[in-house]
Amino acid sequence: MFNFGMKSNLATPASAKSGLPFNRLEPHLINADLHSHSCMSDGALEPRELALRAAQNGVQLWALTDHDEVVGIAEARAAANEVGMPFLGGVEVSVTWAGETVHIVGVGIDEKNPALVDGLRRTRDGRDTRAVEMGKGLARAGIQDAYEGALCYVRNPGLVSRTHFARWLVNTGHCSSINEVFQRFLVEGKPGFVAHRWASLSEAIQWIKGAGGIAVMAHPGRYRFSPAVLELLIEEFKQCGGEGIEVICGSHTKDQYVRFGEVAKRFDLMASRGSDFHAPDESHTELGRLPLLPDWLVPVWHRLI
Ligand code: AMP
Ligand code: MN
Ligand code: MN
Ligand code: MN
Repeated sequence: MFNFGMKSNLATPASAKSGLPFNRLEPHLINADLHSHSCMSDGALEPRELALRAAQNGVQLWALTDHDEVVGIAEARAAANEVGMPFLGGVEVSVTWAGETVHIVGVGIDEKNPALVDGLRRTRDGRDTRAVEMGKGLARAGIQDAYEGALCYVRNPGLVSRTHFARWLVNTGHCSSINEVFQRFLVEGKPGFVAHRWASLSEAIQWIKGAGGIAVMAHPGRYRFSPAVLELLIEEFKQCGGEGIEVICGSHTKDQYVRFGEVAKRFDLMASRGSDFHAPDESHTELGRLPLLPDWLVPVWHRLI
């Protein structure tokens, strides 16, 4: 059922719609990576370094999707253009739904759209206060100066995230891996966790659509909802204008590829593929190295290329 091959598709005729070098008859064969992070959010590489890494790995269509931030897109696009790698502007918006954090990726956005820019700015507001509180929580657990420590890993002052705390905690020897930090300190119920209210689902989707993009539900396999509640989320996502769902992504197992492929089909959503790459030594998945989308799904880039 799945095509796990990586057949190159670059030597095919240009798409009539975009002029990009794709044969639109076989869009599922494109090595697209539509989910990745630079140091403008919680990734470790500069947008340019990330672009070069993606190109080196054979990515044929790339999107930078920093958390709640679009400031890296211009550099990413310029670098992608230099190496001839088709590029889409993107973002991963933090959303609070049913008291839990859900991520909505936007691809194909105009990063200058004023409503999007303003909405993201408001979504980022509060991250610093939250980080100060996280530092206090960790201090109560006996770990001093974590906020100041995390800031040493922050490149974009508006975007301090749990990942920056995790890097500091690993590099100072408090934990041996990023994953261990999250389990011991940064998830609900643990000393460094501070609940935060992000954008609403409908706001996030409106910002993305208003900026000309497609809203995609990120890594559905990661949420802690029951299957029934997850279906409610997907229904509301669709009612708000959401059109895509990640099927092949860095945090999904092979079983989840199948499960969410079927979900995409059943809910009539386009399917996306993205590594969610953050850093060379941390990410589960390298840029552009996931299995291809199966041919029975409609890729989100079908509409964008
Ligand atoms: P924040 O937006 O500050 O809440 O940070 C969320 C980020 O933390 C996610 O985008 C991931 O990069 C990272 N993250 C969350 N959970 C884990 C985990 N269990 N292991 C590693 N990284 C995680
Ligand atoms: Mn992240
Ligand atoms: Mn995410
Ligand atoms: Mn992500």
